Amino acid sequence: MLDIAIIGAGPAGLSAALNGVIRNKKVEIFGKKPETSAIFKAENVNNYLGMPNLTGEEMIDQFLNHALDVGVKFNEALVSEIYDMGDYYTLNVDNDFVDAKTILVATGIPKARFVLGEEEYIGRGVSYCATCDGMLYRDRDIIVVAEDKEAYAEEVRYLQDIAKKVYLVAKFDVKEKFNDNVEVIKNRLKIVKGEDYFKKVELVNEIEIEAEGLFILRETMPVAKLIRGIEMDENFIKVNRNLETNLKGIYAAGDCTGKPFQVAKAVGEGLTAGLNIVSYIDKVEKIKVEEKELVSVK
Ligand SMILES: Cc1cc2nc3c(=O)[nH]c(=O)nc-3n(C[C@H](O)[C@H](O)[C@H](O)COP(=O)(O)OP(=O)(O)OC[C@H]3O[C@@H](n4cnc5c(N)ncnc54)[C@H](O)[C@@H]3O)c2cc1C
Repeated sequence: MLDIAIIGAGPAGLSAALNGVIRNKKVEIFGKKPETSAIFKAENVNNYLGMPNLTGEEMIDQFLNHALDVGVKFNEALVSEIYDMGDYYTLNVDNDFVDAKTILVATGIPKARFVLGEEEYIGRGVSYCATCDGMLYRDRDIIVVAEDKEAYAEEVRYLQDIAKKVYLVAKFDVKEKFNDNVEVIKNRLKIVKGEDYFKKVELVNEIEIEAEGLFILRETMPVAKLIRGIEMDENFIKVNRNLETNLKGIYAAGDCTGKPFQVAKAVGEGLTAGLNIVSYIDKVEKIKVEEKELVSVK
């Protein structure tokens, strides 16, 4: 069981992880490659105190190396869902399951949004995980919407052996070879439609495709899908000054909590969240010890 699971290896996540490890907590980061951090794209970062004139790539490399040097464990992976287990959380990390006492969400500016109708059919024909739900569609027609260029091919290979027909909708050129039952359609998802259960999708050119299941493979997850019940302030995660969300033991830091979108703010929030999580864990542990002592006295 981890003390702190951090989602996202940008400046906010790395800063929180470093401070958690320094305070002797068992911390791991689950994040996509450093290239996916917003700062990677910056040609020149000149407003971070004490580190002038670095490219964004140099800066994120330094942050990552520093975190690794103090013992932070970085797992390159996508977290697709967090489950509330009562007094701890379980994360779906590329379809493996990891338990943690607390979570820091540091996923950057929310890029993934549900398309119209999508949220309504989650669990009723709409899925995000081929290995979790693929078997439900044996010998049936399914649609796979591939938005993540890197991770979709493996999922499609798995699904093509189960489903009767796979409509693969991708906004990019698909170069991989698949079985004959895979039909590639270069397009984008616009609307998810159904009645009690998912029935069809509408693509941006208004073409409709009917199928029994829909798999949406994104680079990242809409926050509302990642963490059920998390309170949002428009597109951003609502936090208080301690960087606590409305859910016990779940904190958020960096661009995902709102403006200003700046490295210094992300690093500062990562630090603040990291320290507050450490205090929270210590407090919970202390209460547990006191309760045990009380029981043994009785
Ligand atoms: C072109 C550009 C130039 C910029 N220039 C400056 C500048 O000069 N100065 C400055 O201060 N700021 C600048 N910024 C802003 C700065 O990059 C951000 O404020 C900062 O990177 C925010 O850090 P973060 O950790 O919150 O998010 P990010 O750095 O975006 O990191 C979030 C990470 O989480 C990962 N992630 C998301 N969802 C998941 C998931 N479900 N599972 C696993 N991983 C996930 C993402 O892939 C990403 O790696 C610039 C931004 C851009 C785009």
